[in-house]
Amino acid sequence: MGEGLLVRTDSPTPDASTRVSSSEALRCEGVSLERIAAEVGTPAYVYSSDVVRTQFQRLTDALAPVPHRVHYSLKANSSLGLLRLLHGLGAAADVVSGGELWRALRAGFGPHEIVFSGVGKTERELEEAVDAGVLLVNVESERELELLDAIAGAKQTTVGVALRVNPEITVETPHAYIRTGEKGNKFGIPYDEVRAVARRAQRMSHVRLLGLDMHVGSQLSRLEAYAHGIERLLELLAQLKADGADEIRYLDIGGGLAVTYESEEPTDLVRYAEIVVPAIRDTGLKLIVEPGRWIVGNAGLLLTRVLYRKRSGGKDLVVTDAGMTDLLRPSHYNAYHRIEAVRSAAEAVRIDVVGPVCESGDFLALDREIADVQPGDLIAVHSAGAYGFCMASNYNSRPRAAEVLVDRDRFAVITARERYEDLVRHEVDVPDWRDA
Ligand code: PLP
Repeated sequence: MGEGLLVRTDSPTPDASTRVSSSEALRCEGVSLERIAAEVGTPAYVYSSDVVRTQFQRLTDALAPVPHRVHYSLKANSSLGLLRLLHGLGAAADVVSGGELWRALRAGFGPHEIVFSGVGKTERELEEAVDAGVLLVNVESERELELLDAIAGAKQTTVGVALRVNPEITVETPHAYIRTGEKGNKFGIPYDEVRAVARRAQRMSHVRLLGLDMHVGSQLSRLEAYAHGIERLLELLAQLKADGADEIRYLDIGGGLAVTYESEEPTDLVRYAEIVVPAIRDTGLKLIVEPGRWIVGNAGLLLTRVLYRKRSGGKDLVVTDAGMTDLLRPSHYNAYHRIEAVRSAAEAVRIDVVGPVCESGDFLALDREIADVQPGDLIAVHSAGAYGFCMASNYNSRPRAAEVLVDRDRFAVITARERYEDLVRHEVDVPDWRDA
């Protein structure tokens, strides 16, 4: 983002912050980040409603030629304030745990707007899914299917399922940990076994086989993965239909759309639609997509304050009040996040931006050129809206940061900063012993 330029959030790479002129502090929509830091403190996550709306709308528009529903993937960011915003826009939900299901219902999503994914759903979570009456449980193994059938049977009801297929295709992502659709991966039913599992589903009385599902990876750099994956799913569909599975009406192609962290080409939505729309148009199926990062990734930033400047081993370091407990991605995935001083400075320095956690792996950026910031200055860590706050921890007994939602000229705290009392909320300091 260039200085002196008001970046429009309907540009291909919307950003949560803008700088109206080089002498001004960064702002999120109409609110200065300095004002947020002064009132809410740091570290704080700051989200732009406008970017969320824009991203949601762009995707919906791209898929408009086919019947579809955007099931926002809560795992990217499950804060209630964001969920309510998304539900208000018309989003449905994709959840991967009982906790996320609970959040989605609490945020106002109807059960029929929820698909339940996840490789290791517990019996309790499956019961919760059945009790809620979710649209689909995306089943990942034959054993899970049997369990679900038994649970629904015991409750004298039926449950809609999609089989999560591992399409076993080659996927390109920036880190191996976010690839999920390759052979040998723990996710989904191995491709060659799906037909047998589908036959089994057809013989069951309490599951209805309504869909096929895949999620091949996150931050996909090549959209061809969708083409290849959908092709594999449709091949299977033909076989399943030949076997009499005539209720299948949903094709869930997962999430994975990439956002721009550094210099990546923005996802070409036109190309995405060119792949997805023709593939699905004549099938009579309803398309489900499960984007997470795409919707919220560039909508959020982490606002942090410089605590110290140091020099060590010939290098300059900045120690900030946010670290790996707030934003795990740099140390966990070696992920790149653009770093920018909230007030620009004429001088630039090459520097490591590190957190306060007692771990050498606690950093936000290494060897990065940024404005010459000093203790007390504010820094924005960009593109932190997805897999940021929701992956935060209390390691080192650090209370989790606040979350702030901005909407034009106003802002609201949507998650209060944790207090020390919150750290020990579930701890028992005098053990209540039970006899063996
Ligand atoms: N759906 C499923 C089943 C997932 O596991 C994930 C992420 O891993 C997503 C959707 C969302 O992915 P993304 O944030 O890349 O869109």
